[in-house]
Amino acid sequence: MPDVLYRSERRLTVVRLTFLGIGSNSFSRLNTAAFVVEVSDGSWLLVDCGPDTPRQVVSAGIAHIDVQFIVITHRHLDHVLGLPYLWFGRNLDALALRRRSPDAFIKPLVVICESDVWQTMRALFNRCHPDIPSLAYGLHHIDIATLVHAPMDVGNLQIRTIPVNHTVPAFGIVARRNGAVVLAYSSDTLPSEDFIAAAAGAGTVIHEAMVPSSEGTFSSSAHHSTATQAGTVIGNIHPHQGFLIHLRPQFWPARVELEREASKAAGASVRFPAEGESIAI
Ligand SMILES: [Zn+2]
Ligand SMILES: [Zn+2]
Repeated sequence: MPDVLYRSERRLTVVRLTFLGIGSNSFSRLNTAAFVVEVSDGSWLLVDCGPDTPRQVVSAGIAHIDVQFIVITHRHLDHVLGLPYLWFGRNLDALALRRRSPDAFIKPLVVICESDVWQTMRALFNRCHPDIPSLAYGLHHIDIATLVHAPMDVGNLQIRTIPVNHTVPAFGIVARRNGAVVLAYSSDTLPSEDFIAAAAGAGTVIHEAMVPSSEGTFSSSAHHSTATQAGTVIGNIHPHQGFLIHLRPQFWPARVELEREASKAAGASVRFPAEGESIAI
């Protein structure tokens, strides 16, 4: 779609969301689940940062320096391991910008995640890069648990988090714009009543659908959703558009069957987006 749909006098009229990865724990074609949302002109919110996410951000045409907010929904490696590497990439961008324009404003980065994830990732970065004692940009942390009861303004969105049902503490996200719920993302979870309630009225819902219902024994023990469970949640929320994410790569050849399974449960058409696909929310 042409950019003009998304911009008006440097104010966003429609929010753009680009899917980066739509898979889970893969080392080949489908990478980890992550997406970006343009929250003000030229500034992006990144949701989750798996090992390949820093590359996918650049492939989506976004400079690391323009990612101004990151939410890490939980500590699993497929959602967090790219974080220190993105900090590194952002530092290169900031240094290059400073060389080109010494007076240029360098956007700070706010990371919303569990406090011990923050401490662990900072320690990893410092351990790996004692040659970078301080970054060339401001780096700030906000505890994701505080957004459960106190929504936060992120550009032109207001973000709230919802504890969901995974094997480690994990948080779904609900984003409002001008009071309306524009987006609800489940993160990794079994179906969550709290998520369904918080997402009421959402225009767009993204829910994980890792496996078909025939693999339900595995997915309940790992606290993931099947396509049927994802479809049922989306059907309960009844959004304008529903997307599936976090597909287990071995089921990529069967994705159409998973989409059919989820759509039947939802009572509406839902699908896996393509990696790199942009949608309006
Ligand atoms: Zn995951
Ligand atoms: Zn997980």
